[in-house]
Amino acid sequence: MRHLTLLGATGSIGDSTLDVVARHPDRFTVTALAAHSNAVKLGDLCRRFRPRYAVLSAPDAALALQREFERDGVGTRVLAGPEGLAEVATLPEVDTVLAAIVGAAGLPPTLAAARAGKRILLANKEALVMGGALFMEAVVAGGATLLPIDSEHNAIFQCLPSSYARDPAGAGVRRILLTASGGPFLARPLSELARATPDEACAHPNWSMGRKISVDSATMMNKGLEVIEAHWLFGAPPAAIEVVIHPQSVIHSLVEYVDGSVLAQLGHPDMRTPIAQALAFPDRIDTGVAALELPRLAALDFAVPDLERFPCLRLASEALAAGGTAPAALNAANEVAVAAFLDGRIRFTEIATLCATTLERAQLRPLVTLDDAREADRDARRHADEWLARRPVQGTLAA
Ligand code: NDP
Repeated sequence: MRHLTLLGATGSIGDSTLDVVARHPDRFTVTALAAHSNAVKLGDLCRRFRPRYAVLSAPDAALALQREFERDGVGTRVLAGPEGLAEVATLPEVDTVLAAIVGAAGLPPTLAAARAGKRILLANKEALVMGGALFMEAVVAGGATLLPIDSEHNAIFQCLPSSYARDPAGAGVRRILLTASGGPFLARPLSELARATPDEACAHPNWSMGRKISVDSATMMNKGLEVIEAHWLFGAPPAAIEVVIHPQSVIHSLVEYVDGSVLAQLGHPDMRTPIAQALAFPDRIDTGVAALELPRLAALDFAVPDLERFPCLRLASEALAAGGTAPAALNAANEVAVAAFLDGRIRFTEIATLCATTLERAQLRPLVTLDDAREADRDARRHADEWLARRPVQGTLAA
């Protein structure tokens, strides 16, 4: 029996995880559920899964949930704030922490889980982008196990030998090929991108996901962050990680070996598959995901990404090459930019402009302690907010 803490329980990954968990009550029990401020949904989930702990990082929402549970006699104990997140990520009775908070806010509790030696199922790529080497060192020092849930990294994990030790050359790996659908704007004329709306950007052709990662998929910042994530997870140099556009999202990623073999992992674009693979590893469990009928696949297409259409992909490569706090700064700028775009404050194409400007102005330094990453994150958010305040043209969709 595995005892789980689910960080980001009210989100899209949270939904998929609880769907898998509910199919296997003999294997998994939910000890803690955590979210930010969605007390209604977290309350419903607690009534259904009966965890010992619930956390809302927004204190007001946590207080409201606590009062509701006292009134209704729900036995779940409610914790609040970042301290509550860290507490449930390190509970002695918990062996597995699923990290699915969106954004940089996921780093502190995930890092705490790493230091406490938990089995970490990582969806929150921003934590690894921001924490980089420090996060990986914490995993080793704490004796934690890191299993990727991001579908591409989970696919790569499945295509690597079980003895893989973050040494591509030692394992005969020549290249890691990350597939990317290209998102909803792959074929839209470049001249129309400035007018793209938040709802259009969130309408991913293949995957159903939270709004932030959906916008990241539309700009391909998501793939850029995934290149950084793959670098840290698999110890692969940037030159050995290649992005390939594959609009059908059937091949989730590939590993090319020096003998010419290319191993791929295929499946429907449904997050329950990588989540279940990591939850049950090394076993395999049923997920309810339909079988992949190969004869019904009309074609599998591949292309090289167009960096003029997807400048965020280039920015992420530049940040990885710059090293130190550059990825943390880029990640923070992107979070501010995506939130501004979703709020209707900037155009879709300005996400890349804001990220590039912030990265140019960021005071980059080596990533020695977590405070370096936090400071880079804070500085970048301040630069980005200043840029937004100075932005001359207001209104998003004006031609
Ligand atoms: P959603 O937006 O659907 O959900 C985000 C979750 O994080 C919610 O539970 C939210 O709580 C919680 N949250 C947000 N801010 C905080 C905070 N400050 N403290 C505590 N909890 C917080 O996101 P997704 O599920 O789509 O994505 C989650 C992560 O997984 C992201 O890092 C994403 O990149 C990654 N990922 C997602 C995939 C997908 O298919 N969705 C695929 C691969 C990776 P609340 O509801 O209360 O705001």
